[in-house]
Amino acid sequence: MFKSAYLTKVYEQVEKRNPGEKEFLQAVREVLESLEPVVLADGKYEKNGVIERLVEPERQIVFRVSWVDDQGQVQVNRGYRVQFNSAIGPYKGGIRLHPSVNPSIMKFLGFEQIFKNSLTGLPIGGAKGGSDFDPKGKSDGEVMRFCQSFMTELAKHIGADTDVPAGDIGTGAREIGYMFGQYKRLQNEFTGVLTGKGLTYGGSLARKEATGFGLCYFVDEMLKCMKNDSFKGKTVVVSGSGNVAIYATAKATELGGKVVAMSDSNGYVYDKDGIKLDVVKQIKEVERGRIREYAERVKGAEYHEGCAGIWTVPCDIALPCATQNEIQKESAEILVKNGVVAVGEGANMPSTPEAIAVFQENGILFAPAKAANAGGVATSALEMSQNSMRYSWSFQEVDEKLHGIMVGIFHNAYNAAEKFGMKGNLVAGANIAGFTKVADSMIAQGIAY
Ligand code: NDP
Repeated sequence: MFKSAYLTKVYEQVEKRNPGEKEFLQAVREVLESLEPVVLADGKYEKNGVIERLVEPERQIVFRVSWVDDQGQVQVNRGYRVQFNSAIGPYKGGIRLHPSVNPSIMKFLGFEQIFKNSLTGLPIGGAKGGSDFDPKGKSDGEVMRFCQSFMTELAKHIGADTDVPAGDIGTGAREIGYMFGQYKRLQNEFTGVLTGKGLTYGGSLARKEATGFGLCYFVDEMLKCMKNDSFKGKTVVVSGSGNVAIYATAKATELGGKVVAMSDSNGYVYDKDGIKLDVVKQIKEVERGRIREYAERVKGAEYHEGCAGIWTVPCDIALPCATQNEIQKESAEILVKNGVVAVGEGANMPSTPEAIAVFQENGILFAPAKAANAGGVATSALEMSQNSMRYSWSFQEVDEKLHGIMVGIFHNAYNAAEKFGMKGNLVAGANIAGFTKVADSMIAQGIAY
């Protein structure tokens, strides 16, 4: 499987320790494949046991979350925080609230976060957390009671200089607000312990927009440097209709593209005239409704049941912004057949390894999640800086920093791939560039006996 006996041994151990955890194994395997030339070129990683340490979380916390629903019934969910690696800074990563949350998904997200955070150039370690709680269909009161109970336990393990969680699927401004309020009550301190906060209590301007905007800045730089092209005049398909999808659509449109389709977990809408984002925002951000309602409100728009169908819509640029493994091999083949030029991952690991292979074999520009969606966590780190300074930057200042960071990440990943003989392979480049800083810091900090 690997040319390196060392990597083979480490991967077999990961399989043994984490049986059946397919998302986690998929993420580890992809990273180890990319790191093979680096590990073969320099014996220090094996000598210092870096890879076997890297694939084992520093700490995993699993806890019961009990709360009372509107009918007075006790409900129980399971909470998680996986503190994966703190070599270059306090743990940092979002909280996912979705019924599919399990140890494999928590670990894959926490593992990927190590490299992504390193790529931003900012001092943040990797972590992820969440619960199998589903905020969909719950009242504000139920969401509040869940979040308070979740934070009552989590508060013991986090802190502004220890671990700083943020939003993810199912965790938006409302949930962060309830969690922040509970942390403050418990600890009697007002610190930047969470990011993605509301603007009236320590949030950063442009944080809400950051992941989607950052994705488009990355894809734009990739198009410019690798194809002398841009978003101008391109047809774009964006999956999902949550935080990342909405602001990716906004920026892609601003840069001259036309977004013609968006989705949720039930289905997708197609609007040949270009998606009217104010309608989507009203449905998703204000009413917490379904994307199907777009077609009921906008003349000429069509709704199709089934979310995977969105990849049959012909486009030049595809931006998957919903969830992991949403683009399978068959969808990738259809995208290629329909003439896609570039794929930019807004969601975490939205393309399966087979789908990525289809894109790479066909010369499609491919921007991997770790690099392309790092704008969210980068801006979260900027929120931490502003909280520490007790100061806030303007929208334009934060947006300019975000733009600079995304351009920097592209070039870092591009150069790392070239250095190791894989020119244009940004998957490998991102993994290598993210790895080196973390690995060298781990070596420098020694091993606790
Ligand atoms: P939201 O909860 O705001 O939106 C998620 C969107 O994806 C919704 O439209 C949702 O549809 C859809 N979706 C979720 N699960 C599935 C599924 N199993 N199948 C199909 N569609 C699904 O989350 P975000 O926009 O914040 O996150 C989207 C992705 O981006 C995730 O992979 C996340 O990890 C990643 N990401 C987010 C960052 C951020 O700053 N928020 C930063 C970096 C990465 P429905 O409403 O029907 O569930």
